[in-house]
Amino acid sequence: MTSRSSELFHAAQKYIPGGVNSPVRAFRNVNGAPFFVTHGKGAKIWDVDGKEYIDYVGSWGPAILGHAPKVVVDAVREAATRGLSFGIPNPLEVEMAELICDWIPSIEKVRMVNSGTEATMSCIRLARAFTGRDRIIKFDGCYHGHVDGLLVKAGSGVLTHGRPDSAGVPQAFADLTISLPFNNANLVREAFAENRREIAAVIVEPVPANAGLYLPGDDFLSMLRKECKLNDALLIFDEVITGFRLSRGGAQEIYGIKPDLTALGKVIGGGLPVGAFGGRAEIVDQLSPDGPVYQAGTLSGNPLAMAAGLAQLRELERINGWKLLEEIGTQFEQLTRSAINDTKANISFHQVGSMFCLFFAPGPILDLASARRSDLKIFARFFHACLKRGIYFAPSQFETGFLSTAHLPEDVERTSSAMREALREL
Ligand SMILES: *Cc1c(COP(=O)(O)O)cnc(C)c1O
Repeated sequence: MTSRSSELFHAAQKYIPGGVNSPVRAFRNVNGAPFFVTHGKGAKIWDVDGKEYIDYVGSWGPAILGHAPKVVVDAVREAATRGLSFGIPNPLEVEMAELICDWIPSIEKVRMVNSGTEATMSCIRLARAFTGRDRIIKFDGCYHGHVDGLLVKAGSGVLTHGRPDSAGVPQAFADLTISLPFNNANLVREAFAENRREIAAVIVEPVPANAGLYLPGDDFLSMLRKECKLNDALLIFDEVITGFRLSRGGAQEIYGIKPDLTALGKVIGGGLPVGAFGGRAEIVDQLSPDGPVYQAGTLSGNPLAMAAGLAQLRELERINGWKLLEEIGTQFEQLTRSAINDTKANISFHQVGSMFCLFFAPGPILDLASARRSDLKIFARFFHACLKRGIYFAPSQFETGFLSTAHLPEDVERTSSAMREALREL
């Protein structure tokens, strides 16, 4: 019997390249085919065949309050009745900008965009304009959206599909990007020395979450801060995932680092297409119409998107969502570690707050090269064994799992028993 999902995927492939609007959704890395979702509520989603899943993807990060949280849905509904888009300033944009600058002190001024990709792309352009230099340093396995010059040794779907660089990116663009192993201070210092007065910026995911999940070593981020300052280059934190997730002020609050520019996305939109970028006023003021750096957007600061984002962020603060996520994370971590220990599985389990990842390889895993040691065949089997039991983890080794405030203790318990069974089956 064919399922409704497989019928839809068949139809989708006729009209949509690969049948999907973003590559990782095709489930190719796990040799599978996607299920199609009809709706979600809290930590759960349901597919077109009526099957229920506990969701650990959370739309790849935005769904930090779970799916369809009432406050966010109400805010969107209310905003929609007053008009969907005007392309004229609206009061919610000011509220959002004030909130961002208040919660993330390194951001003195901020501009809204429609995706994380736009945010990082605009940070790079600003950094180049401000420094008058062209070269960028990034890190292997860090993903910063599908920006031409950043698709060099990028993570996420780029890794999944085994193509480190995308076709269609001019070599001349890629040549301006220096990609280095994460967590290696010496190579950063060497790159600065070899490219004296040529580096506009270092862009980094402070907690890399697009090649699985691994953490910055002691002092790695402060070393970046220091080297950028010494070399008059800007430090850009890509907090599209970590922003408003790891803490109210993102990874930069936790690690106590002030980047010059920050890119935001995902959680900030409450599920609507939103991104933002900002930083030191003297840099951000280079943007048009005050400065010479052009950047614009027909739907930027859209009232629905602002209403959704504001509702989500304020709710997180009201319920002290970050503390709650730590608690849920602790329960998840304890139960997962005990499932791994009991089944003697050869797994490196990483978790920080509401983000986690299982690598099917011994540790330590601290960069892309070590993440790639994970056994992808076993990962795929584990993925399907969990999916069969109604647990939806990201369909790729090179992604991060996300908890939401809607994951209840019984959801986490059900998940760990399913994982235990799945691990025994491997
Ligand atoms: C998802 C992501 C992006 C790109 O955001 P989009 O909204 O998908 O364009 C950029 N940087 C990081 C760290 C991301 O995880």
